[in-house]
Amino acid sequence: MQTSFSPAQLADPNTREAEGIIRRCVHCGFCTATCPTYLELGNELDSPRGRIYLIKDMLENDKPASAEVALHIDRCLSCLSCMTTCPSGVDYMHLVDQARVRIEETYRRPLSDRLVRHLLSVTLPYPGRFRAALGLATLARPFAPLLARMGQTGARLAAMLQLAGQGVRSGADREPRPAILGGRRGRVALLRGCAQSVLDPGSNAAAARLLNRLGVEVISPKGEGCCGAIVHHMGRDDQGLALARNNVDVWTREIDGSGLDAIIMTASGCGTAVKDYGHNFRLIPEYAQKAAAISALTLDITEYLLRLDLPRSDVGNGIVVAYHSACSMQHGQRITTGPKLLLEKAGFAVRDIPEGHICCGSAGTYNILQPEIATRLRDRKVRNIDKVAPDLIATGNIGCMTQIGGATTIPIVHTVELLDWAYGGPRPAALADLAERPQAAE
Ligand code: SF4
Ligand code: SF4
Repeated sequence: MQTSFSPAQLADPNTREAEGIIRRCVHCGFCTATCPTYLELGNELDSPRGRIYLIKDMLENDKPASAEVALHIDRCLSCLSCMTTCPSGVDYMHLVDQARVRIEETYRRPLSDRLVRHLLSVTLPYPGRFRAALGLATLARPFAPLLARMGQTGARLAAMLQLAGQGVRSGADREPRPAILGGRRGRVALLRGCAQSVLDPGSNAAAARLLNRLGVEVISPKGEGCCGAIVHHMGRDDQGLALARNNVDVWTREIDGSGLDAIIMTASGCGTAVKDYGHNFRLIPEYAQKAAAISALTLDITEYLLRLDLPRSDVGNGIVVAYHSACSMQHGQRITTGPKLLLEKAGFAVRDIPEGHICCGSAGTYNILQPEIATRLRDRKVRNIDKVAPDLIATGNIGCMTQIGGATTIPIVHTVELLDWAYGGPRPAALADLAERPQAAE
């Protein structure tokens, strides 16, 4: 795509980056075929190519964001399916990140929109506040149907209450961890996360138990917090960077102290964000190197487990698992086969979900801010899951677990909960009602 930025504009490193990204786009439109919002809405401006044109026009002409730009960029899930499809290597992620920041800085949203976004940004990244908000929201849940009929803001509040109503999955995070068995094979930091640590502490507990049994010391350093992804995707760059900077400091202290072999993520949304810290801090000299080192050490739990070469297990016993690959897993981090290989080795019969590349509509705060499109995508996902008739669903991202879990009776668990079970841990609580199968014959 031709561009016409002035030399003065290109003196700004962010604009220079945006120009380089835009120039790679050859207008081929392949990305439209795999863009969830284009598939659902059929509008070119809700496709990656259309959004690139909107962003180009805004940046090239130094315009503040218009209502039209905000509408179509807000509808983007940042699922990054377009990046997997694009034959030209267009770095859409960093382009849309810039657009979101520009919108936040130059577009005055309607008051109700500002209030909802503010509420999300001051609660979700902070587990204590989020836990308190969930308690209040659960009390207010009976009003959700009424709110849903009260325009866009009502629908957003109703979506919040709906998600809150799904509640906390278990308190297993507080269980004492088993002692390290066998020789010590490593020392890792496990990010507890913000929403995940409240909504589903069982996933982190399962990861810690499994790693401990495999001889890996697991720590969660004092002071670590939200990775910043939630507010980063809302264009709140300063808040996102402040949260990320805190984690860079905390983990760097550990690396310089007793050392870390890896920084482990159990939510792929966080994994994509932390693996991008190096990029986010590239223009901040005192943090650039430290942040790049943190990104290089960061692994999804399944990436780390693959390195440990687990033995075969028969605990899975042919239970049919529909594996839902979160967008942040498959498109954001390009992790596709590893989780399935681990589940198969553990004895589960893994099924791919038709249209597996299409987002479930969770996407951070998307299911709250864009409830209508998110619900359409969620229902589309559940219809596709039903086609493989699984006994259960496994995924590696808390957002997807909450989103999909709200529309199906099929149990949904974190991949690491199944792996923990397969290698000596407890059966996941969500599978309590799953009928026992006769053990396969030897
Ligand atoms: S990130 Fe997802 S929703 Fe946004 S343009 Fe790309 S494919 Fe479409
Ligand atoms: S697939 Fe890539 S090059 Fe083609 S229109 Fe989409 S972003 Fe541009």
